[in-house]
Amino acid sequence: MTQPAGTLYVVATPIGNLGDLSRRAQETLGRVSLIAAEDTRHTGQLLKVFGIETAMMSLHEHNEERRSQLLLARLIAGESIALVSDAGTPLISDPGFDLVAAARDRGIQVVAVPGACAAIAALSIAGLPTDRFTFEGFLAAKSSARRAQLEMLQTQERTMVFYESPHRLVDSLSDMSSIFGGDRRAVVCRELTKQHETSYSGALAHLQEQSARDTDMSRGEIVIVVAGNSIQASTLNIDADRLLRALLEDLPPSQAAKIAAKISGEKRSELYERAMSIGKRQSP
Ligand code: SAM
Repeated sequence: MTQPAGTLYVVATPIGNLGDLSRRAQETLGRVSLIAAEDTRHTGQLLKVFGIETAMMSLHEHNEERRSQLLLARLIAGESIALVSDAGTPLISDPGFDLVAAARDRGIQVVAVPGACAAIAALSIAGLPTDRFTFEGFLAAKSSARRAQLEMLQTQERTMVFYESPHRLVDSLSDMSSIFGGDRRAVVCRELTKQHETSYSGALAHLQEQSARDTDMSRGEIVIVVAGNSIQASTLNIDADRLLRALLEDLPPSQAAKIAAKISGEKRSELYERAMSIGKRQSP
C-alpha cells in the first residue's frame, strides 16, 4: 500500500516580537518531520527559545529550485514539512514560491499557519484606506529604475505598501514626493513589534524632509504606506475615448493606450483594445 502524501505547512514567524509566534505555529513546527528554513542558523535560534528540536534544511533564493524538488519528493513519500522564512510570512518578499507552486501542481495539501506580516501590520495601523490596496514589495535600488516604477504607479488609486531598506529611505521618499506630489499622504512604519517601533505620518514632502534631518527614522526595518491617487479621471472629466483618438493620430495603439492609461487612470489593456477597434474604424 502506498503511503499518503504529507502536508506542506507555510508557517509565519515573528517580525520582531517573539510573542507573535502562535501556539499553532509552535505545535506545527514541533510536529512536522522537517522544517525548510531560509537561514537555518536564524531559525535555529527561534526553535531553541521554544524548545523545538525538529530537523531543518535550508531553502533560500540561491538553492530554491533544486531544494524544492528534494522537498517535494519527501512530501510525496509521506513526510509533512513546514516552510518558514527569517521573519514574517514566507513568500511575501521571501523564498518559498517554487516549493508551494510545485506542491500544488502535484496535488499536495498546502496549509497556511498565518501570523505576522510587516506589510499587513503597517497597513493596519497606517490610517489610510484598506478596502483596496496593492503590495509593491521592494522598489529598485537604482534611482532611474525606481523612478520608472513610481511613474507607473502615479495614477494608482489603491493604497500602496512598499518594503524599503533603511539606507534608501530618504531617496525613495524624495522620489515619491516628486512623482506622486509632495502633498500625498503616507506613513513610514519602522521596527514594527520591536522595542523601538515608531510610525511617522504626514505629507510625503514633510516625511522626506523629516527623514533627511532625523537619522533615527531610517534605522531598522521599514515599511512605507502611501495613499492612492484620489484625483480620478472622472473628477478631471477626462474622456478616455477622445484622448485615445487624439493620440492615435500620431502614435501606434500600444503607445497611445499606455499614455491614455497614465492620464485617465483607466486600464491599459482595456484602452489598448479600444485603440485597436478605433484604429480599425479610422483606417480607410
Ligand atoms: N516575509 C516578511 C513579511 O511577512 O513581512 C518580509 C520579508 S522582507 C525580506 C523584509 C522586509 O520586510 C524588511 O526590509 C522591511 O521592509 C519589512 N519588515 C520586516 N520586519 C519588519 C518590522 N519589524 N518592521 C518594519 N518592517 C519590517
